[in-house]
Amino acid sequence: MDKTYKYLLSDLNNLKGVGLKTSNLLKRKKIFNIFDLLWRLPKSYTDRSESTKIKDLKIGETHTITLVPFKYNFPRVRNLPNRISCRDDTGELDCIFFNSYEGYIKKILPLNKEVTISGKISLYKNKYQLTNPKYISEDASLIRDKHNKYSLTDGISEKVYNKIINQILTNIPKLNEWHENRILKKFNNISWNESLIELHKPDNIGKYNSNFYKRLAYDEIFASFLVHSQIRKKIKKIKKKRKVFSLDNQNSILNKLNFKLTNDQLKSLNEINEDLRSNQKMFRLLQGDVGSGKTIVALSSANNVIRSGFQVAVMAPTEILARQHYSLAKKIYDKDINIDMLSSKTDPKTKRIILKKIATNKTDIVFGTHSIFQKKVFFKKLGLIIIDEQHKFGVNQRKKLSDKGGDNCDVLLMSATPIPRTLTMTIYGDMDLSIIKEKPNYRKEVKTYTKIENKIDEITRFIKKEIKDGNQIFWVCPLIEESKKLDHASAVSKYEYLKKRFPNQVALLHGKTDINQKEIILNKFLNNKYKILVSTTIIEVGIDFPNANVIIIENANKFGLSQLHQLRGRVGRGKKQSTCILMFKSTLTENAKKRLNILKSSTDGFKIAEEDMKLRGFGDILGFKQSGVKIYRLADPVHNEDLFRLAELQIKQMEMNNEDISKYKILMKLYDQADVINEII
Ligand code: ADP
Ligand code: MG
Repeated sequence: MDKTYKYLLSDLNNLKGVGLKTSNLLKRKKIFNIFDLLWRLPKSYTDRSESTKIKDLKIGETHTITLVPFKYNFPRVRNLPNRISCRDDTGELDCIFFNSYEGYIKKILPLNKEVTISGKISLYKNKYQLTNPKYISEDASLIRDKHNKYSLTDGISEKVYNKIINQILTNIPKLNEWHENRILKKFNNISWNESLIELHKPDNIGKYNSNFYKRLAYDEIFASFLVHSQIRKKIKKIKKKRKVFSLDNQNSILNKLNFKLTNDQLKSLNEINEDLRSNQKMFRLLQGDVGSGKTIVALSSANNVIRSGFQVAVMAPTEILARQHYSLAKKIYDKDINIDMLSSKTDPKTKRIILKKIATNKTDIVFGTHSIFQKKVFFKKLGLIIIDEQHKFGVNQRKKLSDKGGDNCDVLLMSATPIPRTLTMTIYGDMDLSIIKEKPNYRKEVKTYTKIENKIDEITRFIKKEIKDGNQIFWVCPLIEESKKLDHASAVSKYEYLKKRFPNQVALLHGKTDINQKEIILNKFLNNKYKILVSTTIIEVGIDFPNANVIIIENANKFGLSQLHQLRGRVGRGKKQSTCILMFKSTLTENAKKRLNILKSSTDGFKIAEEDMKLRGFGDILGFKQSGVKIYRLADPVHNEDLFRLAELQIKQMEMNNEDISKYKILMKLYDQADVINEII
């Protein structure tokens, strides 16, 4: 393999002019090596290409002048600047230096030699002057140019920064082309190396539709897809024991339900069953909007695994959610199936007994939070891991999870977070996907309204009526400026406000409520002891509150559309009509109205996510930014949708033909952000 790429991954200290101080400043900005630095693009440039005669200078403007220094004045008095008088054939100008050494000045401005200098002109005692000029050279061509402006890291000057970047661009290795001709043609055959040089040219700032820009964006997308595809391939290579079961048991469970599965539910269940029966390890994501009915699909497939003689572990993010799944399993599974629940509240004695049952294959299925994957939990014959509501797992975590159960263990993840189609490969490319789009058809759509904050009285009147009808209400207060303190305060003050109007009927949950207390409150709300639950956004999706059918979201413009949709999904699970009221502080802007109309007119989480991304950019949707899911440096799923499709197609084709990927090794090494590459190639 060509080793020249290593220059790009080398430490910043290897650059001329970059010492420990500069490299530490850059590290703080998450720039660790030369490659990282390549993607910080100039924001604009200063044009220093026109040169001006001294007589034509304009005060306050940046000019480039070619002149000759003819006299030094180095005062011996502290705090007085050094002054160098210069002239051209039309006039005179002084260069002023504060805090510069004589030796340095003599070097850059030798007497009676022509230099070109650029900077902002001022007037002092009726004389033009240039203070602390940074752009000076005897070689006019170095100054008479366009100079990039970057959003600078504190402590690094524009000139130093430009120097570093130029040094890198000159030394960029010419790497062997990794793309096929067919792909390369789409970008007019521009190479990676040429593209980068173009990318940093001042005149090319913002040229998102150029071949060089698109090629680099494509490299990035393709690299990330390829890494995912390789992980998937590696997992698929694992040979496992096929699960053998008949569908009679599945049907007996489905017959116990008072509803029929939707087509999408059936399709997903079939896909999972097929995986279970194959001799390749399953690594699958079941993706479906809130309330689309993923649980029953998961429990039915779990039942099949149990019938084939294996154990199942089901992990939920919270105890309440785990308990809901556990209760449902108790209800629908046949009596001969051993169902257990492990939680932090399980007393030590019971826990010991359950652990023993798990270790001897007496327990068929166990529900719990992440505690079920602790070291001391040893499964005799684990055949399936189900993880509910974990859209924030990154590639790395998922890979570890898949390794955990051992070769015979299939893995099913569930997520209620619809994401735009273009992002599927980016975020879940390492898994196979089953998607439930269709909602159970009895379900009435949640009616969505907007209300200005000062009409809160109308809302309380509405709530009164709902409570009278036996309904329950969620009242969500937003995070204010992401500060936990304030967020807490806003929920508390709303709680106080509502408590006065609805004595003994209101409960409060916020980020500071301790976990045990939180469980108690949620359980009481589930059992209808409270009518109104005031909270921040801490209640996870997934918990079934069939009796709650009103949700009020304060300061709704603080949330993204997808998040509002998720919150709204907490109601509307029962058969009654549900309502979502979005509150605002002031009249809505046109843009805000546009966004809300999307929410009002659609209950399709996938569509909403798509629109949300178009309006807000993809980094923001659903907090993927914080979750460690890779963010592209150039590529943009909205703007470069075609490139995402192209990459997806290319990867699928390569997978089908089982193509050798060795020519992409360097590409993957350079762009891998999940640090998984060494494990897979
Ligand atoms: P999610 O996909 O958000 O996990 P759940 O599995 O919790 O959704 O299902 C939400 C509710 O819908 C549950 O009360 C469940 O019993 C019900 N449900 C699931 N599938 C159907 C269906 N096909 N028809 C009617 N109701 C269903
Ligand atoms: Mg769920």
